[in-house]
Amino acid sequence: MIRFFSLLILILSFVRVVPAESREVKKKPTHAIPSNYFVKKEEKNFSLLMEARRFGRGEVIFLRLTPKDKKWINESYKVSWLGKDVILTKREKSMVAFLPISPDTPAGAMTLEIVSKIFFVKRGQKQYQIILEPTKFQVIKKNQQIKVDEKFVTKELPKETLDFIQECKTAKEVAFSKQSRLQFGGNFKNPLEKIFITSKFYVRRDYNNKQGRPHGGVDFRGKSGTPVFAIQDGVVVLARKTYYEGNFTIVDHGNKIFSFYMHQDEIKVKVGDTVKQGQEIGTVGSTGMSTGPHLHLGAKVNDILVDPLSLIALQSISESN
Ligand SMILES: [Zn+2]
Repeated sequence: MIRFFSLLILILSFVRVVPAESREVKKKPTHAIPSNYFVKKEEKNFSLLMEARRFGRGEVIFLRLTPKDKKWINESYKVSWLGKDVILTKREKSMVAFLPISPDTPAGAMTLEIVSKIFFVKRGQKQYQIILEPTKFQVIKKNQQIKVDEKFVTKELPKETLDFIQECKTAKEVAFSKQSRLQFGGNFKNPLEKIFITSKFYVRRDYNNKQGRPHGGVDFRGKSGTPVFAIQDGVVVLARKTYYEGNFTIVDHGNKIFSFYMHQDEIKVKVGDTVKQGQEIGTVGSTGMSTGPHLHLGAKVNDILVDPLSLIALQSISESN
C-alpha cells in the first residue's frame, strides 16, 4: 500500500512537471529482489530512463539519457542532481549516470537538471522533480554493552595505536578520493554465493540509551573462509589491514563509485589489480572490529554512503536493456 502510494506520488510529481506522455512501468518481481521503479519519459529529442529500487534515502538511481539522433552523443551536456554536478559517461548510444540519495537527505522534492542546447533548443535546460519516498531506518534499543574487544572501546589507547588509526584513516581517504572513468557496462552481482543478511543498511543500535552510529553497510552471514566476490568490475585501490575494518578491500568502479569489503579473513588481491565481477577477492572472516565471521559490504557513490543492495538491485545498466 505504501509502495503504491509512493508510486502515485512519483507519477503525480512527474505529471506535474512534465505533463506529456509520462509513462511509468513497474517491473515484475524476480525471486529475491523486490520490484524496482522505472520512470520512462519520451522527450522530443531524447528519452530518459530512471531506475531505482526505491526513490528513498540511501538508494542509488540509475539514469540513462538516449538522444534520438546517435550523432548527438558527441555534444556537450551537463546534468546536476540535488544541486551537485553528476559524472556523465557517454556510451555508444546513450549517456549514463548514478545518482545517490543520501541516507540523511531531508524530505521533499529532489531536482534533476539537464542542461543541453540539443535537447532543449529554446530554453537550454529542464528540471525534473522527484518526491522522496518516506524511509525509516530501524533503531534497535538495547540495555547491554556491545560485545566488542576492549581494545575498540577503551578511550585511552597507546600512542602507537592512535598513530595506526590515523594512518588507516588517511589511507582510506586517499583510496576514496580516486577518480577514474566508468569501469563497467553491466549490472552488479552479490558478493557471496549464499545471501543471508544479518544487519541492514543504516540500522542504528542504541546501547543504554546512548545513540549509536548508523550502520554504514550491509552485513552478510558467512563462515570463515567463504569466498568473497567483487560485486562489479573495477580496480583495487586499497587492500590491507586497518584498525576497525580488519582486512579491508576497496574497489574503484569508476565515476566515484566504490564498493568495500570488511573483516575478511584473507585478502586475495593487491592495490592496482584489475578485478572482474564475480572474481574471488578474499574470504569471509572476523578481523578488526567484529564479533564473529561475517562480510560487511559497503558502497559509496559521489562521496555519499549508499545501501550497496540498491546498486545490486539495478537491472538496466547494460545498454541493451
Ligand atoms: Zn557491518
